[in-house]
Amino acid sequence: MKKIITVVGARPQFIKAAAVSRAFRDAAGFEEKILHTGQHFDSNMSDVFFEELDIPRPHFHLGIGGGGHGKNTGRMIEQIETVLVDERPDWVLVYGDTDSTLAGALAAVKLHIPLAHVEAGLRSFNKRMPEEINRKLTDHASDLLLTPNASAVETLAAEGISGRHVVNVGDVMYDAALVFGEKAEAKSSVLRVLDLGPGTYVLATVHRQENTDAPVRLRNIFSGFAASPLPVVLPLHPRTRQRIAAFGVDIPGNVRVVDPLGYLDMVMLEKNAALIATDSGGVQKEAYFHGVPCVTLRDETEWNELVQLGWNTLASPERDDLAGVFSKKYLPGQLGAAPYGNGDAADRILKELTDYN
Ligand code: UDP
Repeated sequence: MKKIITVVGARPQFIKAAAVSRAFRDAAGFEEKILHTGQHFDSNMSDVFFEELDIPRPHFHLGIGGGGHGKNTGRMIEQIETVLVDERPDWVLVYGDTDSTLAGALAAVKLHIPLAHVEAGLRSFNKRMPEEINRKLTDHASDLLLTPNASAVETLAAEGISGRHVVNVGDVMYDAALVFGEKAEAKSSVLRVLDLGPGTYVLATVHRQENTDAPVRLRNIFSGFAASPLPVVLPLHPRTRQRIAAFGVDIPGNVRVVDPLGYLDMVMLEKNAALIATDSGGVQKEAYFHGVPCVTLRDETEWNELVQLGWNTLASPERDDLAGVFSKKYLPGQLGAAPYGNGDAADRILKELTDYN
């Protein structure tokens, strides 16, 4: 029996871990315990995902959230270390690029507990993003690096990380999109509740620090939305809500702000949108998984293959004319490519954890 401690803390990690937790439950030979750092704590940023996606209740909940990067990361390392000393797992499993990822990684490696990083090898090459630091340091500390695509393997090789412990398993978010996409069709009533028809709206999310903390960028995003001929549905992240109020940003009349959504409602809105506009890493890929064109409100993206395949258009909220960007019509990109695997990333992760030596 292999004991796994999965460290999660933020919304995208709940979704990624949901896909892998299902596989742990179905497979013999694993005991998974979930450690929730508390980085995201609102019920609609955390609890709803555990309920809807059937993620086992966290064994450990550290309740660390609401502070700055240094304070949070420091407190997380201290408390994760205490759990790991008691539990002595065979693996610590971390996801993505948040402060919880880095804290889990540092706590594990200092105790010589094997560390596996899911979504290894992603880079924006923008060191001002806190996520870029978190993911890079985590990769360099990891024993097993599980990448979502082939280009991440090349990126790691360019940083001197290569060999049999770098494995392209595919993207667990694709697993999640397939499994929970079907469930969303059966369970979500969001289109009815919001009175939206398929193909009649733009779905938008904005939460990256580089956009929320820069008043000019935030204002440009909203004036861009104002030029959209279709209404813009915006499930609003708590940080963005707070900054909009603090900077006095005007919300145009065609923007419909709603609270953050559970995953099933979010997927349903993604599937039926005419266009998705986002600065989220995960939502860019989900647009592609569900066959919807995407405008990415950033200067660069970690998911360049989507730009090359014509599914994703980069639009800088600082340099580009966003009104022009939103008044255009977008067509679907190329079909047939499978840059993120076959939807079996979770099973492949379990195999790598088992076979590792
Ligand atoms: N998401 C959600 N509800 C929302 C907004 C996003 O369930 O109101 C999901 C989205 O479908 C994706 C994930 O959250 O699976 C992305 O998380 P986020 O944008 O917070 O982080 P990132 O992917 O940028 O790290």
